[in-house]
Amino acid sequence: MSERHNLLRSLPAIDRILREQVLQELLQQLPQEVLSEAAQDLIATLRQEILETGNAISPERLQPENLAAKAAVKCRQLLQPSLRKVINATGTLLHTNLGRAPLSPQALRAINDVAAGYSNLEIDLDTGRRGERFSHVESLLTRLTGAEAALVVNNNSGAVLLALTALGKGREAVVSRGELVEIGGAFRIPDVMEAGGVILREVGSSNRTHLHDYQKAINDNTEILLKVHTSNYRIVGFTKEVTATELLPLAREKDLILMEDLGSGLLIDLSTYGLEREPTVPEVVKAGVDVITFSGDKLLGGPQAGIIVGRKDLIQKLRKHPLARALRIDKLTLAALESTLQLYLKPEQALQELPVLNMFTAAAEEQQQRCQHLFEQLQAAGLAAEVKLIEDVSRVGGGAMPLTELSDWALEINPHSGRAAELAKQLRTFSPAVVVRVQNDCLLVNVRAVFAEEEALLAQILISVLKAKD
Ligand SMILES: *Cc1c(COP(=O)(O)O)cnc(C)c1O
Repeated sequence: MSERHNLLRSLPAIDRILREQVLQELLQQLPQEVLSEAAQDLIATLRQEILETGNAISPERLQPENLAAKAAVKCRQLLQPSLRKVINATGTLLHTNLGRAPLSPQALRAINDVAAGYSNLEIDLDTGRRGERFSHVESLLTRLTGAEAALVVNNNSGAVLLALTALGKGREAVVSRGELVEIGGAFRIPDVMEAGGVILREVGSSNRTHLHDYQKAINDNTEILLKVHTSNYRIVGFTKEVTATELLPLAREKDLILMEDLGSGLLIDLSTYGLEREPTVPEVVKAGVDVITFSGDKLLGGPQAGIIVGRKDLIQKLRKHPLARALRIDKLTLAALESTLQLYLKPEQALQELPVLNMFTAAAEEQQQRCQHLFEQLQAAGLAAEVKLIEDVSRVGGGAMPLTELSDWALEINPHSGRAAELAKQLRTFSPAVVVRVQNDCLLVNVRAVFAEEEALLAQILISVLKAKD
């Protein structure tokens, strides 16, 4: 009993720990209470240990200097950003978990210009009257897509929700069973429709839907014919889909709204790069679809946003709906979106300046050279792992072009001791973090989504992690 008492008395006082230099220095950035709390937590843990075990604690662990250092590590975590830079060596260009599209330098400048001060976000500088925030991108969007009108909101899920709610609340929307998609964890077309108060009328089967299926489903309460891009999967084999163009005469005859959720929304045709043929937004507009929705941060290569283009009278309804206010786009996003869209005025410029399109269209030979260079650096470092240059495929990801595989190259790193998963973790927790694929107990490093200016750093990080003894 008294032994324990003595041990407890040997614990240093909080004040004594706080007087240590490391913590005194931290006082410039953090309040005293945060530092005290960290020190108290450490002492409480030690006290618990003594009470439970009755064992003496080594004198080293009780030194105020060591306790202060421990407390400082904990306190400094508060000052570290949780959201931080990642080097994407997965070969997936639009990784939703890695923040989808990186922005162009132009978009970054635009954000910078608007962020630090005031802007004409909602004021018409000519008349001095109140303006609308989406007016800043509307004429660009109508020019680039050929649509009569446009509106932008927070993201594409919001765009779909707004369009369905504003146009179809209490009425029926007809959708093919093959298009009732779930994208990511939370976006499911049936759920969005329910949230928007739209009655879902499913037609056809998962693999085959015919025009007569739509015809039969139409009744007095039908308002919308909805097409949804099956962004992240494909039904292949015995399939039948009714295209928007085939649906149009039916929509016109029955006076229904034809809406298409395109998901990714390409503004320019990329099939000349040997990729899957996808209808572009201008083509869908031209085909006569009334309302079209797509994301800003998928293949468009801009910030997270939901873009809606289409018939003027319908877009007007969306603007006036209370949800439009709740889903509104913020000024930084708007600035980035405007400058991203401006690059599309000259498509060659978009291809060159937008990181996603640039990576997307890079030739396999170029990738091979970059991999070869990295390979040589790793070889020269003499790692305790077998490194091979292998053929690989890259993907677009992020719910766009599920079947598109870009032929590519990668480094396969075999650490031998079955440690691939552990090394992948060490790479993820490095600063900056590096995310790679793990396959058959090997690390796969694909550089398609690695920026040229990150290459040297990537090599350094790989070497330092793979060289470290476990
Ligand atoms: C990605 C996607 C969405 C969701 O868009 P967010 O911008 O992520 O909200 C909706 N519909 C389709 C078809 C998509 O591909």
